[in-house]
Amino acid sequence: MKTWQTIVLVLVTLAVLSGGYVFLQIRTIEVERLSDDLHVLRGFGGNSAVLRTDAGTVVVDTMTLPMMGGWIRELARELTGADTVLLINTHYHLDHTHGNPAFEPGTRILSTERTLSHLLALDSEFWTGDAAKLMPNETFTDRQTLQIGGKTIELIHPGPGHTDGDLVVIFTSEKVIHMGDLAFIGHYPNIDLEAGGTVRGWPATLEQVFTLEFESVIPGHGPTTDRNGLRQFQTFLSELAEIGRQAADEGIGLEDTIASDRLTADAGYEPIRLIVSLGLDREFVLQRAWEEATGNFTRAN
Ligand SMILES: [Zn+2]
Repeated sequence: MKTWQTIVLVLVTLAVLSGGYVFLQIRTIEVERLSDDLHVLRGFGGNSAVLRTDAGTVVVDTMTLPMMGGWIRELARELTGADTVLLINTHYHLDHTHGNPAFEPGTRILSTERTLSHLLALDSEFWTGDAAKLMPNETFTDRQTLQIGGKTIELIHPGPGHTDGDLVVIFTSEKVIHMGDLAFIGHYPNIDLEAGGTVRGWPATLEQVFTLEFESVIPGHGPTTDRNGLRQFQTFLSELAEIGRQAADEGIGLEDTIASDRLTADAGYEPIRLIVSLGLDREFVLQRAWEEATGNFTRAN
């Protein structure tokens, strides 16, 4: 969503200019090992994944700044001993894509067609000049299977939710799935209605994901979880969609919807903080549910 993207940009600029403590907070990338070949990187932005294959390294999502893409590229090489040969962008938001320009021009970069079209329509100021060379250069609509260096990777667009173009990555031999922002764990999600996102449709999209074979889930934001953790997030979304539906049916206004105590599946959720809060909180998700159900928003692309 545009507003919080702007907030992130301003913050990052301030942070880079002011240096010191804030810079250190951005500089920190935490590494989690899921197997010999698969690691999760957590930092200032969405979670990245790094997969070692016999034909080179695969990186999923590149966080918020070209500089951070450079750190991810370096870390990926340390973890796997090989250069990145394939980048995958789960969706168009800047905290998953703006590290791309740190990678080698000519690198194979995959996304859905919708994601590429959102990048071009909604984030075009960033993707100019040299950055444009690191945009997705291979796209698909619903599903793609990749055989690379002894690994099978499935890419699936299971339906709309966070946007209308998100993909999930299945690392088949690891039985691990990277959900991008179709899953937030322990945090309130961003719901990008303007880019085709939907509270109402999101639970059914997750139902498609449950038909896939996996044990562990890397969310776009939050800790690695399992099928139960993903189920809990689906319950939260169903509750939220129901609150929106009821508001629309009964003509309940935005203020009363936000003040409602009927949302309970968010117990323990924390707003995401990247130095300061990004406004992804309880009020935000209730507002988005109301806006979708009552038609009070405008598609941007
Ligand atoms: Zn996102």
